[in-house]
Amino acid sequence: MATKLGLADLDLSGKRVLVRVDFNVPMDDQQNIVDDRRIRASLPTIKRILAAGGTPILMSHLGRPNGKPDPRYGLRPVADRLTAYVEAPIKFAPDCVGDKARAIVESLKGGEVLLLENLRFHAEEEANDVEFARQLAGYAHLYVNDAFGTAHRAHASTEAVTRFLPQCAAGLLMEKELKYLGEVLDRPRRPFVAVLGGAKIKGKIDVIDKLFTKVDALLVGGGMMYTFFKALGFEVGKSLVDAEMIDVAARLLRDAKARGFQLILPQDALVANALEATAATREVLVTDMPEGWIGVDIGSKTAADFTARIQVAKTVLWNGPMGVFEIAPFRRGTEAMARALVRATDQGAVTVVGGGDSAAAMEQTGLAQKVSHVSTGGGASLEFLEGKALPGVAALTDKK
Ligand code: AMP
Repeated sequence: MATKLGLADLDLSGKRVLVRVDFNVPMDDQQNIVDDRRIRASLPTIKRILAAGGTPILMSHLGRPNGKPDPRYGLRPVADRLTAYVEAPIKFAPDCVGDKARAIVESLKGGEVLLLENLRFHAEEEANDVEFARQLAGYAHLYVNDAFGTAHRAHASTEAVTRFLPQCAAGLLMEKELKYLGEVLDRPRRPFVAVLGGAKIKGKIDVIDKLFTKVDALLVGGGMMYTFFKALGFEVGKSLVDAEMIDVAARLLRDAKARGFQLILPQDALVANALEATAATREVLVTDMPEGWIGVDIGSKTAADFTARIQVAKTVLWNGPMGVFEIAPFRRGTEAMARALVRATDQGAVTVVGGGDSAAAMEQTGLAQKVSHVSTGGGASLEFLEGKALPGVAALTDKK
């Protein structure tokens, strides 16, 4: 991948800078922000632009308003929250395009920050509409994309907009994502161990195929392990099985064997008689799964085995929880992986956690700050790891 311009390559002084951020924060029914991590993650870029004398014009999507204004998805609460973190006047434009927005942009003074209303109040955003993008681009001298989580989508604010601005750079958060995910994919220090979990194999099959060619060992836990066990002919009780993927799982097992590749499946599992915190549970060998029970977590032998393998790795990639971690008694395996990654990090390994549920699990255990990198993009990080070009990254200006 060509190296892209970063914030440090731009002359920001006196410039209006259009910044695509990811302010898609969870809100409750009263539009209170429940978790402002994504806002905080964008602060380094906003502050750097201000410090260099630039004027940030921030734009984002929030939720799925389906191309029309919908007060449930308004970004004003985000503008209010920004005032707590940024020592600069925060202005808000009640629409992202149109005369009013244009007038607010023109009235901006140096040292101010503007947040535009939700881009997805216009269907043109997701349609990657060129005219819509031209209006957005018209506000600014420079463009910065710091929204890694939407970089796998070619939308007007991530792709078409870049056609109208002379320099389009990655923001600091985007750069960090590309640095760590790129390092894992292109220059991993060995041994390189990947840990995959979560419910679905389907969305991850391309990543598994790619990782086969890259990693020294692939550890599989979570609900997806039962599709492998089904392929091996084991009893799986009422565990999650993706019937369509059994053949694929069988193919992966055959491939691994033929290549001498370490595809490591759990030896034991925690099983429950229902998917609820008060259910009866027991640990069993995966070959002794009782009929009618549900596999809800990896077992303690497996947690110890996976931990030992992670400890000796120099690069670790983790995507997907080891069990139904939303239910406290089924969280131990996932927590063990989080702790193992922290220990590996302390011993000098590069440790990267894919976005989505494994990122949520890192937050829940309070260990997110103790690994090398927790990706902010679930889908985007998977597509990146599959080796696909992300349109929002490809559209940025190449470094000379
Ligand atoms: P994914 O989106 O594929 O990464 O899946 C994440 C989800 O997998 C989480 O909501 C977990 O509760 C779920 N999960 C993990 N292990 C299991 C399991 N053994 N059975 C059912 N769901 C699981």
